[in-house]
Amino acid sequence: MAGERVNLLGLPRAQLEAFVAQRLGAKPFRARQLMKWIYRRGAADFSAMSDLKQEFRVQLGEVAEITVPQIVTEQVSSDGTRKWMLRMDEVQGIETVFIPEPDRGTLCISSQVGCAMDCTFCATAQQGFNRNLSVAEIVGQVWLAQRELTESRAGESGEGRAGRAITNIVFMGMGEPLANYRNVVPAMRIFMDDLGYDLSRRRVTLSTSGLVPQIYKLAEECNVALAVSLHAPNDELRNELVPINRKHPIDELLAACWHYIDRQNGRSVTFEYVMLDGVNDKPEHARQLVRLMKGRPAKVNLIPFNVFPGTRYRRSPAAATARFRGILNDHGVIATTRKTRGDDIDAACGQLAGKVTDRTLVRLGAKLVSGARTAVEI
Ligand code: SAH
Repeated sequence: MAGERVNLLGLPRAQLEAFVAQRLGAKPFRARQLMKWIYRRGAADFSAMSDLKQEFRVQLGEVAEITVPQIVTEQVSSDGTRKWMLRMDEVQGIETVFIPEPDRGTLCISSQVGCAMDCTFCATAQQGFNRNLSVAEIVGQVWLAQRELTESRAGESGEGRAGRAITNIVFMGMGEPLANYRNVVPAMRIFMDDLGYDLSRRRVTLSTSGLVPQIYKLAEECNVALAVSLHAPNDELRNELVPINRKHPIDELLAACWHYIDRQNGRSVTFEYVMLDGVNDKPEHARQLVRLMKGRPAKVNLIPFNVFPGTRYRRSPAAATARFRGILNDHGVIATTRKTRGDDIDAACGQLAGKVTDRTLVRLGAKLVSGARTAVEI
């Protein structure tokens, strides 16, 4: 029977309304009540939904469920960053990272198990591509993080606890979100729905390695902040670092970005640029980048490279990064340097590996099914 139940997590509002009407003969406002319970109050159990009639709750339990991914491990960095590994099935995991800052809390979520883009400097690429996440698995990351963060703040008093922990969501975890367009877009709609997570479109960021056709499609269909992993100021170098560039070169990619901003009436695209020692961090690269960005609705975010086992790259020295940023700023291109967070627990950009092939995880398989959870404090 369980297989026939519909998972309500991640169902767009219109679909949820249709579901309650068709399967349960209920009015649309029931769907709205359900959304409030699921997202605002983090309920996973129909019996707890006290403003729904008992009979309706029982009916719901027969045809529907609220199923979220299971947490395998939680790690807490010395800087407060938290990383959860979530079980996708017997052997596969994905990672979700929460980055607290004084004025906001950013949740970095995954869109796929593994990634097919094969960027040479990214740990996720090493595990290859496994599968797309479903809408429920994408939204489930937010649902779980919210629950965990609320629980961990239970001891705090008043405002701190009542204030929302997650103020921003970024698709900068594992996977290429535009390669999973079909599931990522409905998930983003839930993030922005006022009965969902109610985030403004500026607080939901999709980061892409540059799937040009999907950027055009997104421009028509969904209004969110766009970040693009540029990493190189010319095609020769970008072909090497971000292989998708061979299919969609820089001029096509940038044309899609400017179109996106026009169409969406947006402010700017954020270009991510990972600083690799001796590879893309020279003054001439900065000058080439200026030519691409000058006068455009663009911001450049320089990312200190995070090392991972087996990588051939090194992080640019801080002085090289500062010089690079100086050249951009001097020529009127807005550039900032990303602060590295959570690197002591391998939670920083490009370090998410999901350990899909980790043998201990395979061996632990059976045990994990029973719901064991471990918290590793670092
Ligand atoms: N596939 C998407 C989103 C995931 S990567 C994309 O490419 O944008 C999120 C960001 O982390 C990207 O800008 C990515 O290039 C960067 N990144 C990947 N590996 C990194 C590493 N080892 N150190 C620092 N940043 C890295």
